[in-house]
Amino acid sequence: MTVFSRRASVLSFIGFAAVALSPALHAQNTEPVKAVASFSILGDLVKQVGGDRVKVDVLVGAGSDAHVFQPTPSQARLVGQAQIVFSNGLGFEGWLTRLLNTASYKGQHVVASQGIKPIETEEGDHGHGHKHGHSHGEADPHAWQSVPNVVTYVGNIAKGLCAADAAGCDTYKKNAAAYTAELKALDTEIKAAWAAIPTAQRKVITSHDAFGYYAKAYGVKFLAPQGVSTESEASAKGVAQLVRQIKKEKIKALFVESISDPRLIEQIGRETGVKPAGDLFSDSLSDAQGPAPTYVAMMRFNTNALVQAITAVPR
Ligand SMILES: [Zn+2]
Repeated sequence: MTVFSRRASVLSFIGFAAVALSPALHAQNTEPVKAVASFSILGDLVKQVGGDRVKVDVLVGAGSDAHVFQPTPSQARLVGQAQIVFSNGLGFEGWLTRLLNTASYKGQHVVASQGIKPIETEEGDHGHGHKHGHSHGEADPHAWQSVPNVVTYVGNIAKGLCAADAAGCDTYKKNAAAYTAELKALDTEIKAAWAAIPTAQRKVITSHDAFGYYAKAYGVKFLAPQGVSTESEASAKGVAQLVRQIKKEKIKALFVESISDPRLIEQIGRETGVKPAGDLFSDSLSDAQGPAPTYVAMMRFNTNALVQAITAVPR
């Protein structure tokens, strides 16, 4: 081997090493993955799985109502720049398809509820009408109110992030596994909280019907004057029926949801003599200073509030 060729091979080795090292260097300096989540609860789930590698922007923020959301032009720009978009699906974000078109979004779209078994709504039962094309037997979108469903959401989120950012896949899988363990412990905790309460007493009134999955998972009956979407309005007949039912069944737990107009529940409270027990978080987290800034905190807060209202000793 001549001196020249040896030098050439050393140089080519250095060149090869630099190329081989570059993915690691790149991963350290790289910009976070730009993700958009449709609403605050889903935003938290994406943050739990994405960690530091993902920057999550939420369209429908804490305290806002995703059923009747209207995206702004700046939010359309945000979607246009995103690498991955997460939605709940099951008809929750009726505005999303149009937004993705407006933004000319060509990236990945992950429907987080994919693979869960939807509950069909029973809108006819409360006797209230629908103005926005809802029909009986439509899927109830609030699937996140059952913790085992959210384990499925987390799996879909990890899969989506792996596809968008293969270099981070191990991290996403690790984060998803740790968070899933936390969710399973939460599920056990909620079941234990209800176990002490006789089934006949597990009855709750909320303003819109957002707790069908919670009801099924944890054996609680929820009644709502407003349907499964806040878009529909409660009928006078439906409200009168509910008032009679509350009196007859001596239901004590009356709640307003943080996203809903409290007046209807306040009216029912006056007519039944049941004092509303406060807010539940159904479709939105609280802000960072509130009692439900994360999904896990929200489920824990709701469960405590429900159990306390039902078990409260009448004054
Ligand atoms: Zn809702």
